[in-house]
Amino acid sequence: MNFLSRAGHALVAALDSDHFTDPPEVIRQQPERISPARCLSFAVLHLGCLGVIWVGAGAWAVWTAVALYFIRMFFVTGIYHRYFSHKTYSTSRFVQFVMALLGTTCVQRGPLWWAYIHRHHHKHSDEPVDAHSPVQHGFWWAHIGWLTSNKNHPTDYTKIKDLARYPELRLLNRYDLIGSVLLLSVLAGWGAWLRSRGIDTSPMQMIVWGYFISTTFLFHGTACINSLAHVFGKRRYETKDDSRNSFILALITLGEGWHNNHHRCQSTVRQGFHWWEIDPTYYVLRALSWTGLIWGLKPVPRWVHDHAHADGPLAPPEEESTGAAVGLGSPERA
Ligand SMILES: [Zn+2]
Ligand SMILES: [Zn+2]
Repeated sequence: MNFLSRAGHALVAALDSDHFTDPPEVIRQQPERISPARCLSFAVLHLGCLGVIWVGAGAWAVWTAVALYFIRMFFVTGIYHRYFSHKTYSTSRFVQFVMALLGTTCVQRGPLWWAYIHRHHHKHSDEPVDAHSPVQHGFWWAHIGWLTSNKNHPTDYTKIKDLARYPELRLLNRYDLIGSVLLLSVLAGWGAWLRSRGIDTSPMQMIVWGYFISTTFLFHGTACINSLAHVFGKRRYETKDDSRNSFILALITLGEGWHNNHHRCQSTVRQGFHWWEIDPTYYVLRALSWTGLIWGLKPVPRWVHDHAHADGPLAPPEEESTGAAVGLGSPERA
């Protein structure tokens, strides 16, 4: 394939996440290897932060970036992780679609790909085939390297049949770029409106802070769970992997730092199992359940507390052993 043809395919692939030059089954068999084309999007994201040299830093833009970090961290944890990956609560088909759309604004690819990769992580945690195990592949590969490898890009729809049967979710998964388009448009409009009210900001300043800087921090905050949560922290449970609990990681990821808890029991909506284990994602989901938009939040099962220490029985009841196997029914009002 010549350069022009490769560039053409890379451009189409940037717009269509299901576009590949080889069949997905073949790509998944390839060795892990950094792809220069895949690095480009990360380079653009990080270099975009340098725009601050030209646009400066206004208070409204900085606070917008901070707010978007935490709001979208909730989308990653409360939507992509605790709903699409583990189905720890239920919702209607319409809200499921809206949540998927909101999730695409996190610029972490589509909801079905995210859930597929994540369920694979739980099934093969810290085994050689685990795409982002720091134990197997080292810190940098677990943090960002694995995302630059073509091998990890195709979504295996056969492994997420409970989600893939919704055409609207497949569409969002395929064209997840819509999240970036939406976010950039809203930020440009927000910046222009504020400026029209006499506030010292601009559409470009809002885009640099709200999109590039906020999304870069959001990526690294999320990636810390892959690269650090299997290395640093305490192990309450002797799970089959090296997952750990970390207060610091829980703070920057709104509760995902209780990763050893989560590997012990993936099917519960809570990751902080005790009141002192701060879990903001759970608090927000709990508040949302009072509105009726979501329901059926799965509590921490008794067996988790019954065997709270490492010297307790290691194997949870069969139906709880994989989050992906629990509660993967359709939305109740679908
Ligand atoms: Zn893990
Ligand atoms: Zn998980």
